Amino acid sequence: MHRMEPCNTPACQSAREIFHELEEIYDEHNLYFQTIGSVLEAANILDVPHRLKLILTQPKNEIMVHCPVEMDDGSWQLFKGYRVQHNNVLGPYKGGIRYHPEVKLDEVKTLALLMTMKCALARLPFGGAKGALRIDPRAVSKDELMRVTRRLTSALGDNIGPDYDIPAPDVGTNAQVMAWMADTYINFAESSSKVTARGVVTGKPLEFGGSVGREKATGQGLVYVLDALLPGMNIELDKVSCSLIGYGNVGSWTARLLQQRGTTLKAVMDHTGAILNEAGIDAEALAEHVKTTGGVHGFADATAINNETFYSTPVDLFIPAALEQMVDLEHAERMQCKVLVEGANAPTTPRAERYLLEKGVEVLPAILCNAGGVTVSYFEWKQNRQSETWDEELVDERLKKIMTRSAERVLKMSKRLNCNMRIASYASAIEHIDKVYELRGVFP
Ligand code: GLU
Repeated sequence: MHRMEPCNTPACQSAREIFHELEEIYDEHNLYFQTIGSVLEAANILDVPHRLKLILTQPKNEIMVHCPVEMDDGSWQLFKGYRVQHNNVLGPYKGGIRYHPEVKLDEVKTLALLMTMKCALARLPFGGAKGALRIDPRAVSKDELMRVTRRLTSALGDNIGPDYDIPAPDVGTNAQVMAWMADTYINFAESSSKVTARGVVTGKPLEFGGSVGREKATGQGLVYVLDALLPGMNIELDKVSCSLIGYGNVGSWTARLLQQRGTTLKAVMDHTGAILNEAGIDAEALAEHVKTTGGVHGFADATAINNETFYSTPVDLFIPAALEQMVDLEHAERMQCKVLVEGANAPTTPRAERYLLEKGVEVLPAILCNAGGVTVSYFEWKQNRQSETWDEELVDERLKKIMTRSAERVLKMSKRLNCNMRIASYASAIEHIDKVYELRGVFP
């Protein structure tokens, strides 16, 4: 499609109609427009009340803060932070905070909308939110990272809280960042609420209110989804190969857990380059290499390849687990896989998805595949509220149940509506949100 031609897919048409009604300016190539378009396409198929479509089209709150921070050399920098709270009809807002130098408001809005859908699909008692700080976390010292994190937490003030909005790790943030956020928040909390105040964020270190299994949770959840859905496609995990984009938390855990299940990891690409080993890359050794060098480049037991070769390497499962929109049409045309498993949020452009579906590739959507992270976040939040510590067995067992049920829900909906898995996952989420709005009403 040429850039100037209006897009005529049901998703674009659905989004255009609502944006006209809201008198909002829109750009059909914008990620938020495209994502809400697919959500509205599902809403139209279900025929939910018009008010729900209006409500979901815009986030409830878009918060923007600016954090002045003194750097180690005595200079000052101003960092821009966002928190977008999309919807909270199901419970407190929930979603990660990412640190990235190029983050934009529309990206955060998209990710917040996806959190609403993700929590609703998994039937967690949470709404959807996302936060971001425009910073390159690799380019600052640990002390600078701590100061900016504390400053961001205090700037967000009462906009976050264990009963209101609960951040978590995302791209560029980790358990240490969550520990600083929780500590800052607790120090400002009333003395009567200091015990439960640690539940203000999830993904904390184990020693400071974190949950067993949270670190591997997204990868573990993804494997449980594959366990639930691959048999129906006649695919067995111990007989197949995969490739991965990204070797951060999601990518490296997915690779290591799939290796335990007998899957061959053929190729990996990240911000430092791409590598290939037809006989299989040792996921554990690669994780060690990435920990010490910062990326997959230079891994001894594989050949360096270019991006073109990476995309065209034949594999059964292709798993993007890095940033948004990395699989575009050009890449999709090269790809030779049976299933695209979305580990990252919104990794596939709509044009790439249409192309792959037409070619017969199954596309398993992110709000299903990567819901393991927020699910174990929910377990952590629950443990914090009850001052409990669950063991790994219990966490895994409960995670498996939630992931399996979510996968079954999506499959059932795709049969009921005769639609693809992405639209089915949104439809299941929307149907649940719609029921709750019907019960609660829109008040005042
Ligand atoms: N950032 C993760 C996600 O996108 C986890 C969110 C959470 O645990 O709240 O799903």
